[in-house]
Amino acid sequence: MSFKQILGQSQPKKILTNALQNSSVAHAYLFYGQESIGKKKLAITLAKALNCKGSDPLDACDECESCLKIERGVHPDFFFIEPVKSTPTSREAVIKIEPIRELQKKLAYLPYEGKTKVVVVDSADLLNLQAANSFLKTLEEPPSSTVLILISSNPHRLLPTLLSRCQGIQFHRLSSSEIREIIQSQLQEKGESLTESDLDFHTQRSQGSVDRALAEDFEEMETIREQLLEVLEKVSFDRMDIVFAFAKTWAKQTEQLQSVLNELLGLIRDLALYRSGCSQSDIQNRNLSANLIQIAQTRSLKTWLDRFTVVRNTQVALSGNANAQLFLENMLIEFCEAA
Ligand SMILES: [Zn+2]
Repeated sequence: MSFKQILGQSQPKKILTNALQNSSVAHAYLFYGQESIGKKKLAITLAKALNCKGSDPLDACDECESCLKIERGVHPDFFFIEPVKSTPTSREAVIKIEPIRELQKKLAYLPYEGKTKVVVVDSADLLNLQAANSFLKTLEEPPSSTVLILISSNPHRLLPTLLSRCQGIQFHRLSSSEIREIIQSQLQEKGESLTESDLDFHTQRSQGSVDRALAEDFEEMETIREQLLEVLEKVSFDRMDIVFAFAKTWAKQTEQLQSVLNELLGLIRDLALYRSGCSQSDIQNRNLSANLIQIAQTRSLKTWLDRFTVVRNTQVALSGNANAQLFLENMLIEFCEAA
């Protein structure tokens, strides 16, 4: 994609095209902001623009050999590093020192084919300490004709020494109309389409993230939401069977667990909003409103807010190496206590 074709993120695009225009592209950038709002796309486009053989010096043509090679990840001067899981079942992926060392060897040479070597480190906050310290050396003494781009949705987890050596560019959440437009154009490319109301529903549930809007399996998530709502309605000290069944089912689904907990948060958020008498327009799961309105009244606002906090804390604990089943049981027991 070229800068022109990327929808939204007008501020970051402007900063980068100005830098290209003034030949003041920084040695190192940090693109930060929530997941899936265009950081990686813009980083790749900058790599293309810096090496493009087309006529516009301020944008990628997206057609020349160089642009196509970068798109396919086979350009010898374009390096993309991302976290990998050490085993298929590990919950969290990391960037270890080996790929950083490998990269440093390659950066010692001049660009092989293009004008500028570009390194993109996706989810840079997942560099382990050893890898981060090693990468710091590259930031401190940047090789010539090289642009380093770190991408992070959790910049507070980066070493301050890394942060201080990058020019930060903040990416903001996309607006609903931008998301709607992006979903529509991506579906069009695939020759697919959605009805207006399905498009509205996806947009409204996207929370500013395109991947979230597109990745969702409509029917599967619908079933999950209904199950979660039932848990929220029925769980109590008299129904400990719900606690154990829930924990047992979801503890095994490590891939899906965080998104299930996000759904749970969304539902509790809606219940709290209904309980406090907010208008329908703020509700995310509007298609479940009849059920939500009725369940919202069965508990106090404080209970819904307490449960929200419990789920958030569980998410944080589970992003480490906590025992999922134990933490999920604990979460629902705290739900019972909050009732
Ligand atoms: Zn090009």
